Amino acid sequence: MLKFDIQRFAVPFRRTSKTKKRMRRTHLKKEVGAITTCAKCGAAIRPHRACTKCGNYKNQEVIKTTEEK
Ligand SMILES: [Zn+2]
Repeated sequence: MLKFDIQRFAVPFRRTSKTKKRMRRTHLKKEVGAITTCAKCGAAIRPHRACTKCGNYKNQEVIKTTEEK
């Protein structure tokens, strides 16, 4: 009677090994976002966004940058 009361939920048959645990967690990682280079200054930027260094997007200045080189 007591035996049935204890196991009311699923219990793992055996401990998950280090290797199995690590194999499962190979997919649990943060994705690296896409990176391209600015056409004007060559800085690393995210695609479809204005350059944070020179403020250019598709060879047009869309953001006024106060910093002069
Ligand atoms: Zn740029």
